[in-house]
Amino acid sequence: MLLRHTPKEITDRKILTINPAKTCQPIGAMYAALGIHNCLPHSHGSQGCCAYHRSTLTRHYKEPVMAATSSFTEGASVFGGQANLVQAIDNIFTIYEPDVIAVHTTCLSETIGDDIPQIARKAEADGKIPPGKYVIHVNTPSYVGTHVTGFAGMTKAMVDYFAESAGKKINQINIIPGYVEPSDMEEIRRIAEVMGVRTVLFPDTSGVLNRPQTGKYDMFPPGGVTVEALKSTGNSQATIALGQLASGPAARALDSKCKVPCEILDLPIGLKATDRFVDTLRRTAGTDVPDTINIERGRLLDIITDMHQYFYGKKVALAGDPDQLIALTEFLVSIDMWPIHIVSGTVDKDFQARIKEITQYVPHPVNVGIPGDLFLLHQWIKNEPVDLLVGNTYMKYISRDEDIPLVRFGFPVLDRIGHGYFPTVGYRGGMRLLEKILDVLLDRQDRDAKEESFELVM
Ligand code: SF4
Repeated sequence: MLLRHTPKEITDRKILTINPAKTCQPIGAMYAALGIHNCLPHSHGSQGCCAYHRSTLTRHYKEPVMAATSSFTEGASVFGGQANLVQAIDNIFTIYEPDVIAVHTTCLSETIGDDIPQIARKAEADGKIPPGKYVIHVNTPSYVGTHVTGFAGMTKAMVDYFAESAGKKINQINIIPGYVEPSDMEEIRRIAEVMGVRTVLFPDTSGVLNRPQTGKYDMFPPGGVTVEALKSTGNSQATIALGQLASGPAARALDSKCKVPCEILDLPIGLKATDRFVDTLRRTAGTDVPDTINIERGRLLDIITDMHQYFYGKKVALAGDPDQLIALTEFLVSIDMWPIHIVSGTVDKDFQARIKEITQYVPHPVNVGIPGDLFLLHQWIKNEPVDLLVGNTYMKYISRDEDIPLVRFGFPVLDRIGHGYFPTVGYRGGMRLLEKILDVLLDRQDRDAKEESFELVM
């Protein structure tokens, strides 16, 4: 029992987090920055932070993650990191030649109070930023916010620094995909392409963190949204933002900066949320839904009806990020599963109300912990056991101790592969999620079946 010290009795905790259901802001900022073509993320702080952020992304994606650091030592920690950052900008543009350096801060540089735009202006005045190259930034003190807000902040920085309005709209739609996997970004773009909609997707980590093995190392892989495309987002007809928390700030910034109207939707996970995404795309672009998409939808519906008996009434415990949890909870409820314990370490003021609304007809009390941690989730499970866990790799400890099957979903997934390559968004992603859920539920049924009820056909 690795978590044998988790007691069943729940006592009030206000200032202590145990096994957080979140990670630190710069990781999200770094991940978003990797979605710009020819961009090198830069961590303005000490080397330890940068090493941790890079290694978390590398472990999740099984890909090399490049990022630079201001490498604070004692001097910079006391007097500020201006000299380090100016030197770093010079070195990076000279040696690695990216188009963009995307700077995020850390707890240390935020506590000192380093002013990144002022430092970037100094670097520019000193001639350290070559013509046609850019330094963008986001503030990511990790004593507030989480990887989700870091991602949202860097995505908004793409708008703040690049979006331009020429006063004439062009025939394209912006899609902000939210904090999802590279495979999901690919799938969102594919759906739009199949529908004949021209889009700018940003950030776009597909082709960066799920690249093929070619035997050749590219410091800057072929994927990512280009600076030129980011500039054009200000002339798009509209923006569709997926995920209120991760994509909302960028979409609203684009609306106020360049008057590009936006619709902010849930992540397209599951039947209903994908329906809303496809319908919004159709309506916004004035196009039709082609047969390809209708067939995919029909297949998802077919799995739901064929296998409904195995989903019905199964209790589920979930942990993750608000945007994902909202869509996932809706999906599970729509197939008659009962998500009864839900925690997120990321604060979202609308989360509780949304979950209550989605689960209002679930015939069981629903616990919602926000901000919550995996310790609390484990305690809830001890008091009211569930049939299935859905969440990141850290849930495997609860899974093992309580002997409950786990479907890995969200960030980080450090001990399995697949998330970078197979989407969970869209109708096809919904099919994959159901396959994963069914696999663990039916494996469990097989394992626990008495000999006389061990079924060949299920
Ligand atoms: S929490 Fe702060 S100090 Fe710790 S790794 Fe993240 S940014 Fe660095």
